Amino acid sequence: MAADTIVNISALRKSFGANEVLKGIDMQVQRGEVIAIIGKSGSGKSTLLRCINGLEVFQQGSLLVDGLPLKHGDAKAMRALRQHVGMIFQNFNLFPHLTVGRNVMLAPTLVKQTDATAAAAQAKKLLDRVGLAEKFDAWPDQLSGGQQQRVAIARALAMEPSVMLCDEITSALDPELVGEVLRVVETLAEEGMTLLMVTHEMNFARKVADRVVFMHAGRIHEMGPPNELFANPQTAELKQFLSALH
Ligand code: ADP
Ligand code: MG
Repeated sequence: MAADTIVNISALRKSFGANEVLKGIDMQVQRGEVIAIIGKSGSGKSTLLRCINGLEVFQQGSLLVDGLPLKHGDAKAMRALRQHVGMIFQNFNLFPHLTVGRNVMLAPTLVKQTDATAAAAQAKKLLDRVGLAEKFDAWPDQLSGGQQQRVAIARALAMEPSVMLCDEITSALDPELVGEVLRVVETLAEEGMTLLMVTHEMNFARKVADRVVFMHAGRIHEMGPPNELFANPQTAELKQFLSALH
């Protein structure tokens, strides 16, 4: 394992009842790397991300984030781990009864006991970073989907995660709002954030990802730099997946 491995997954297996949906995943992610995860619906992409942030219990294998092993049943270890992992979902999941600023302040205040003044100052900085400084006192339902998703990114950044997981974060957006969210993600990548991103945006993957992981039927079926993987798919499954996109 390289010195700067930040996510280290070995022989990971995960079942729902009799349905094994991750069938032995091995993957090492280096600090600052951007990984795009692609594959058809049901191939296990979301389950893999959910295992990495401890939302799903897995049956076999091991998973380390920033050197910390993921141990279900050890509440302290899980809390420590969750502070290292940020996650953004398709449907933003902002708290509707809290202002934008309060959404961003919530986790640092609750989990890190950051005092309100410091949390508010940090939230303002983060909202500025995603281009929404003026929305601090707005309510989530006053924002467009693209703006809400940018708030969700600011909220995840507030915990200063060492890795950010994004699960189809532009899939619920009107096409004209996709670009503003992807630009924020691209900026994070340029600033050195480690990103694991399930996406259907192949142009974005081609441009921003260091590696693309193609999942098929619960396995990593192919993995490589975007230029190689897209130009020269090795398996029938990836060829078929890519041709179905056009
Ligand atoms: P993807 O994100 O690639 O579309 P998922 O990881 O969501 O795939 O799902 C992989 C498989 O796991 C699917 O067969 C799905 O039905 C199953 N699955 C996902 N979540 C659950 C769950 N909570 N309970 C039972 N089965 C699940
Ligand atoms: Mg999914």
